[in-house]
Amino acid sequence: MTNMDKIEKLKKSFEKNKSLITDALYKDLGKSFDESRLTEYYPVISEFDNFIKHLDKWSEPEKIKNFFYLLGCKTMMQPEPYGKVLIMSPWNYPFNLTFLPLIGAVAAGNEVVIKPSEHSINSSEIIKKIIDESGLEDVKVVLGGVEETKNLLNKKFDYIFFTGSPKIGKEVYLKAAENLTPVTLELGGKSPVIIEDKHCLEESVEKIIWGKFFNRGQTCIAPDYVCLPMGTAHDFVELARSYIRTNGDVGGKIINEDHFKRLEKLLENQNIIYQNGKINSEAREKGIFPFTIVLNPKEGDPILEEEIFGPILPLIEYESLEKVYWDLRSKPSPLALYIFRNEKGNMTTNGIKAGGVCINGTMLQILDKKIPFGGVGNSGIGRYHGKYTFDTFTHYKPIFEGSGIKISTIHKITNLVLNKIKK
Ligand code: NAD
Repeated sequence: MTNMDKIEKLKKSFEKNKSLITDALYKDLGKSFDESRLTEYYPVISEFDNFIKHLDKWSEPEKIKNFFYLLGCKTMMQPEPYGKVLIMSPWNYPFNLTFLPLIGAVAAGNEVVIKPSEHSINSSEIIKKIIDESGLEDVKVVLGGVEETKNLLNKKFDYIFFTGSPKIGKEVYLKAAENLTPVTLELGGKSPVIIEDKHCLEESVEKIIWGKFFNRGQTCIAPDYVCLPMGTAHDFVELARSYIRTNGDVGGKIINEDHFKRLEKLLENQNIIYQNGKINSEAREKGIFPFTIVLNPKEGDPILEEEIFGPILPLIEYESLEKVYWDLRSKPSPLALYIFRNEKGNMTTNGIKAGGVCINGTMLQILDKKIPFGGVGNSGIGRYHGKYTFDTFTHYKPIFEGSGIKISTIHKITNLVLNKIKK
């Protein structure tokens, strides 16, 4: 079976289970039908199509044009699979974040073991069903929790692709190092928003609330907190209130009780200036954590230290924009940086290192299929999507063939070149 056949079989099985995918996402995360189709089904189908269209070309060996002194020699770069790959995916976009790397790994010819999250168990079972029904013998799904993950990490793989938190990412990296296994670490962290100018407040608020509300804030590139000019927080809240009144609650639930409690704890001793609902036993039972805005948390508060990963938005008013950038430069590099400014075409990011940047928008960078996705520093190692995923799971092996040319002739040519350079 060719790699293309495998991709087509996977696609068929994925399509066949279309309605089970939306059902599972509703059970695990309360995702609406539209949100599931928009963020988990179509992006995967579109990636299948992208690979089906380009795989033959990407798989061709690349001929390299030699330097003149290697006259008659031949060089090429042969794409070859790493071998056995482990893909560990998280619970927040379980299908998207399993299949996007998987398509590339299979297309490049690897054997794959998938470890989906134990927290989104309905989705993980459907992922297993899709793989089993595809009939691909060299793709396996291992279900289970921390214990099973640790067991897997004790085995030798030729490549590990991990999506999750920086904390567990470090553990994965340590285990991979024991076998010198290369890794991609797609991690998270705090993605800041900077509103540079009060004149873009109106435009920015709906984009920020939209990005933060998606999947009830459980998105790795969700805006984590907002820095905005002094004296504009109350205007921000009024605009947010009006946006939420018009658009309603987006639905979706917090993945489990532990995460709900974690979010509640983040609100301790905070100045809550807006909340679109109550945190009571019904909310806890249904996982409906209300959208909450807090004003000016103090430095060192957990809400400013750990990734929020929920619908809480801290607003931090600033006196000096320069100081905001100065402070951010010394913080861990985020997966996404969001800037709102009035000047069109100004793409400067003031020296902030980030996995990706979106100016005058939130989360839209993910829609541009020509650019890669990935973090830097604390937000990860490596990148993927489309051809970048194929490259991630491929070792480009240079193969060189010598010509009949004599070593003495090569000496003569190199001496000629050296003499020319010396002159
Ligand atoms: P996590 O890192 O807490 O857990 C990931 C998996 O690691 C778990 O499913 C578990 O099986 C395993 N695990 C837990 N403890 C372990 C241990 N001690 N040793 C080995 N394995 C262990 O992440 P999560 O809760 O699944 O996802 C949330 C995080 O993922 C957030 O930080 C978020 O930003 C990040 N994320 C990143 C991206 C991205 O594309 N960069 C996408 C989604 C989520």
